[in-house]
Amino acid sequence: MSSHAASGVHLATIIDELGKHMSTSRGDSLSGVVTLAGASAAPATTPSEKPEHAADHDHSDVPSDIALRVKSLESLLVEKGIVDPAALDSLVDAFENKVGPRNGAKVVARAWVDPTYKKKLLANGKAAIREFGFTGWQGADIVVVENTPKVHNLIVCTLCSCYPWPLLGLPPTWYKSTAYRSRAVIDPRGVLRDLGTVLDDGIEVRVWDSTAEERYFVLPERPANTASMSEEALARLVTRDSMIGVRKIAAPTTGS
Ligand code: FE
Repeated sequence: MSSHAASGVHLATIIDELGKHMSTSRGDSLSGVVTLAGASAAPATTPSEKPEHAADHDHSDVPSDIALRVKSLESLLVEKGIVDPAALDSLVDAFENKVGPRNGAKVVARAWVDPTYKKKLLANGKAAIREFGFTGWQGADIVVVENTPKVHNLIVCTLCSCYPWPLLGLPPTWYKSTAYRSRAVIDPRGVLRDLGTVLDDGIEVRVWDSTAEERYFVLPERPANTASMSEEALARLVTRDSMIGVRKIAAPTTGS
């Protein structure tokens, strides 16, 4: 089977994310298919899998329930001709290789070295980000908020898990948790402290609640000791969590 067979968990995450943004009727319908497929779950190993995959993992490990369900769902949809396996490969490839925090890091590094670009980014995030070609799913309208020595921004989706996919990829599990979603607005300093970011009382904390129509993205502060660094080197310093606003970027110990 093609590479998506080994990416059941990734596909499960993608389906989970897509399902959250479906209409109720479609969500119910998908859920019904998943249940149906899960009820007739195929064994973890199928004759069509590549023989060399045996070296990849221990067969005594039972795949998770969701991985089995996704495999069953995929097999069923492909068998009935509803889904093209090449389209699934393309979907998985996009999430594994084309979207993710490295995209966001490139935008941040450009803003740090190019004041004109930074101005454009803060004025119209969507247009400035489009210059890199980062558009598409879940990137409808992206508003960029800047962290400064006086203001710290934090993003959350209190309703579900809205997130700027083209820039950051899929959201981490904790971002989708009820604890984060509720506490980020009630006690943002406490959440930040728990995640390792202690802010002085004099720093204003702003919490931005993402929606399906408007996603927020944090432009973190450029760390010290980076004056001589290239844009590419700066991009390597930028972390996913700094662009969600839960962590600051540590200054590099060397200037390289
Ligand atoms: Fe959401």
